[in-house]
Amino acid sequence: MNAAIPPINVQRTDASLAQRLSGAADIPFSSVFSDHMFVASWREGRWEEAGIRPYGPLSLAPNISALQYGLSVFEGLKAQRTPGGRVALFRPTSNARRLNRSAQRLAMPEIPEALFLEGLRTLVGLDQQWVPEHGRGALYIRPCLFSVDPCVRVRPPDECLCVIFTFPFTSYYSGPVELLVSESYVRAFPGGTGDIKPAGNYAPALLAEREAREAGFHSVLWLDGMHRSFIEECGVMNVFFVLEDEVVTPPLEGTILPGVTRDSALTLLKDMGVRVAERRVSIDELLQASRAGRLRECFGTGTAATVSHISRIRYRDTDMHLPSVGEGAIGSQVRDRLNAIASGAQPDRHGWLDLLFPLE
Ligand SMILES: *Cc1c(COP(=O)(O)O)cnc(C)c1O
Repeated sequence: MNAAIPPINVQRTDASLAQRLSGAADIPFSSVFSDHMFVASWREGRWEEAGIRPYGPLSLAPNISALQYGLSVFEGLKAQRTPGGRVALFRPTSNARRLNRSAQRLAMPEIPEALFLEGLRTLVGLDQQWVPEHGRGALYIRPCLFSVDPCVRVRPPDECLCVIFTFPFTSYYSGPVELLVSESYVRAFPGGTGDIKPAGNYAPALLAEREAREAGFHSVLWLDGMHRSFIEECGVMNVFFVLEDEVVTPPLEGTILPGVTRDSALTLLKDMGVRVAERRVSIDELLQASRAGRLRECFGTGTAATVSHISRIRYRDTDMHLPSVGEGAIGSQVRDRLNAIASGAQPDRHGWLDLLFPLE
């Protein structure tokens, strides 16, 4: 798209809350929101207005199709503070492109990459004080695009908003995760929306997650919707298995979300000289590998937690216990390397960082 993009008007808050951050020992995930947000509006085929304004409520009609029919897609990425005090966005172009793939799948307009990236950089630049110190956490960035078409007829929207807001966090649950294989519910199916990020993918998973929690697990291990046999994802993360000396993750065949962390982990594993395969893994193969002592590790990947170790998987009556994670664990190495690159502590050999200007 090379349509002209609107200028980004900046309206600063006169009541910054950034001071609340200094001295805060721990900032839980999604507990306090940064001062500003980016809002761009699309109407009748054009992105017409874009601006940054104080973070706060939006005024929306009750009949908009985001609320009625779930015409809403989102993204998630992080910015971190480098040792030199700059702010590094991690692979934001991947999120811009994925947001547009999601929008396209729901018959919604795409946002020009240049407008999205400029809005993102301006927003994070303006709220740079909200990015935690190097090594102390990250700024989570949540872009979303949704219909504000005030029409109860089911149709592709005439009006949409793209909103980006951010929040800092210093801690995210990073203990070992125990998973229950879900046989009653599926997350995705061929031809559906499992490979994009619509808001509507998350709501149907909540009941399965709640039932898993009630049974004493942290989350769900999802099987494919056709055969209920092949492993797809864990909770809202991509999943990796270390089988003997090979690392395996399910392939992107339409039902798996193409995670940026997944892609980064695959690249880093190859850098480390580890054998990797993107192929289907059935729950039976996993059971056999576990019995034979060949299942060494299992981990999930996603932006918020980066890499989460999985310590137990329950399928029907069988518990697969994964060996406790030692220093040399592959998942830990991937997490450490990824965090080192994303926070600017190690050289960015893959060109993943988008560095913002230094602090004045
Ligand atoms: C967002 C998401 C992921 C992780 O993607 P990242 O780009 O690595 O954050 C994995 N699975 C699902 C279902 C998701 O929605």
